[in-house]
Amino acid sequence: MATLNDLMGALSRSKRKVNKVKIRRAWEFANLAHTGQKRNTGEPYIEHATATAITLADWWLDTDAIVAALLHDSVDDGGATREDLAQEFGEPVARLVDGVSHIGKIRLKGNTEEEFVENLRKMILVMAKDLRVVLVKLADRLHNMQTIEGLLPVKRKQFAKETLEIYAPLAERLGIGYLKGELEDLAFPYIYPREFKWVNDYSQLYYRNTKQVIQTIRAEVKKMLLANEMEDGFVQARSKRKYSLFKKLMRPEHNKDISKIHDLVALRIVVGSVEDCYQVLGMIHRMYRPVTHLGIRDFIANPKPNGYQSIHTNVFGPGGKIVEMQIRTHEMHEAAEYGIAAHWHYTEAKSNGVDDEALERGVLIPEEKLQWVKQLVEWQGEIRDNQEYFEALKFDALQHRQLVFSPKGDVLTCRREQHRLIMPLPCTPI
Ligand code: MN
Repeated sequence: MATLNDLMGALSRSKRKVNKVKIRRAWEFANLAHTGQKRNTGEPYIEHATATAITLADWWLDTDAIVAALLHDSVDDGGATREDLAQEFGEPVARLVDGVSHIGKIRLKGNTEEEFVENLRKMILVMAKDLRVVLVKLADRLHNMQTIEGLLPVKRKQFAKETLEIYAPLAERLGIGYLKGELEDLAFPYIYPREFKWVNDYSQLYYRNTKQVIQTIRAEVKKMLLANEMEDGFVQARSKRKYSLFKKLMRPEHNKDISKIHDLVALRIVVGSVEDCYQVLGMIHRMYRPVTHLGIRDFIANPKPNGYQSIHTNVFGPGGKIVEMQIRTHEMHEAAEYGIAAHWHYTEAKSNGVDDEALERGVLIPEEKLQWVKQLVEWQGEIRDNQEYFEALKFDALQHRQLVFSPKGDVLTCRREQHRLIMPLPCTPI
């Protein structure tokens, strides 16, 4: 149960200086606005607002975003008015709450392709005005998914579907890797219960065996870092997420065979500089024989479209077991886990003390991260006849839908099967 004390603790851990007095006042206000209200889980409503605010504090967001998180349901579900918010906490906070509420009302379950894309477009427009709105919404969704058991079964499924189709890909597009994984794994059992059970049961033994091998290698790599005076480095074992494993198993080349998956547990080696990354790669290949046919993927030289950077290599570990290694700098590691949220505090400008106003204007979000959002807004006018728009979105939800252009210029959409366990749906005109 998230309390005001927990929130204050999270604020103290944040590297950003925030106005604790204002945040505490917002908590008291929200507590009053939700007096007597309980969530379906039976907990007092304020706990949801508090949990949402704690997530944002953990992402080191600014005062107004955290205040907006506390107040995000106080008008729609509580007893407050927009005027109250503007008066008590300022117009910027009221605007943020408006934005979050607006996104919340956009239903993304559109029955037809047109409704779906139209709703998605509305959402992106809201988001483009202030990215903090979407970060508050994502934190809100995370807590709702963590407490999804409180919903009626029929609502659970709809909620989980929206999370998997929209919010998880959105988190990915914003580069917040850990959130994407978290949202997917929370939604997975509700959308594909049978498949979830299958993956879960099937993978258990493999996870356990791989973990043992990884622990041995981890100790050897740590020793190697120390011997090479890379004391600032660390080595982390990470287990592949269940939903991500499921998708990989469903690829034709893996054919539901888990022995063909080599990153069930991967080793992350995080070091101080790009030079160190390449040096570590060389040392790893001298310690363990690289698996030639799997190759090295250098995402430092060639970053992924969402900015992800790391070097991936596969080697033969003890007992001939194939192991994936991911080598990256601290900065790349943080960017991969927190994405846009990390950039809020990572830039040098921040450490030189940039005022909250500059932060509100979003000056610290690097251009290239915003480019994607901007482009979507520019293109939205051409939505009905421009296939590029769909390509730009590159959302899972849209990737399942294959667009077909008829000779007469009609656009048809086929819902491609999401994976082999589900029957494909027939084509519908849009
Ligand atoms: Mn909420």
